[in-house]
Amino acid sequence: MPKISYVNGRFVPHQDAVVHIEDRGFQFADGIYEVISSIGGKLADEGGHLDRLERSLRELQIDMPVSRDTLGFLMREVLRKNRLRDAAIYIQITRGEAKRDFKFPDPVPVPTLVISAWPFDFDNNPAIKKGIKAVCVPDQRWARRDIKTVALLPQALAKQKAKEAGAQEAWMIDDKGYITEGSSSNAWIVKGDVLQTRLADTDILKGVTRTAIQKVADDLGLQIVEKSFKPADACKADECFGSSATALIAPIVEIDGHKIGSGKPGPITKQIYKEYRAYVDGMRGDPVEWSME
Ligand code: PMP
Repeated sequence: MPKISYVNGRFVPHQDAVVHIEDRGFQFADGIYEVISSIGGKLADEGGHLDRLERSLRELQIDMPVSRDTLGFLMREVLRKNRLRDAAIYIQITRGEAKRDFKFPDPVPVPTLVISAWPFDFDNNPAIKKGIKAVCVPDQRWARRDIKTVALLPQALAKQKAKEAGAQEAWMIDDKGYITEGSSSNAWIVKGDVLQTRLADTDILKGVTRTAIQKVADDLGLQIVEKSFKPADACKADECFGSSATALIAPIVEIDGHKIGSGKPGPITKQIYKEYRAYVDGMRGDPVEWSME
């Protein structure tokens, strides 16, 4: 069965899913994206991801190409047409196609909307079972990391550095020596029953999974402190983990060659993962909303 993707109003075979060479996303990274997981057929934190998608668009003054409800419908159609239940769904919206010019085009083009999905086996992800290794790299991104733009070159370079060092994630360091976040995840450390993660301002992408973990931690009676930390703090922590929509809660067992805790996924990280999965399965009350307030 050929893979089907959605491009600007049409479901097409994936190999024919193309956008124009003068798409603003292609030429200027003038666009945003979201990744939402479908776990056992349930879209994890769909509302939160759509909240953040709408905010990213507002910050860049790009109109929503379709309503929220339509977007929800289109995502489910992509899943259905590809017969997927456990999958990552990718949505990208750019300012659209226009003659190359830095300024916003006038008249305003129709935004480009692309949706695709690929299978993802959440329950057998070796990263969750065994944990992953991270390396620290300089954070070389722009100053509005709170917007989920497709300008991902610094993250691509960071992830490549990690791969070359035999690691799976890169934790990025700001010019004061503090960890901002992972190249595609939020960064957490655990000391006793306290979880620590950086304050979500314009220096990081405020994860939807991060927001859900705040609720899960409350339910578990764990405390969360929003405070910056350095690689040395992470190396001394009991446990470290990263959070994101696809990796969910991924234990980090080594940073720059230093073993974290026992060098194996820790009990608190495992507990959060379990509770988070229960929350996604709909066993733990209302979904959280996402906002920068
Ligand atoms: N920070 C960055 C830089 C990311 O790319 C991601 C993954 N999208 C996250 C954090 C985690 O966000 P979420 O939990 O919403 O996937």
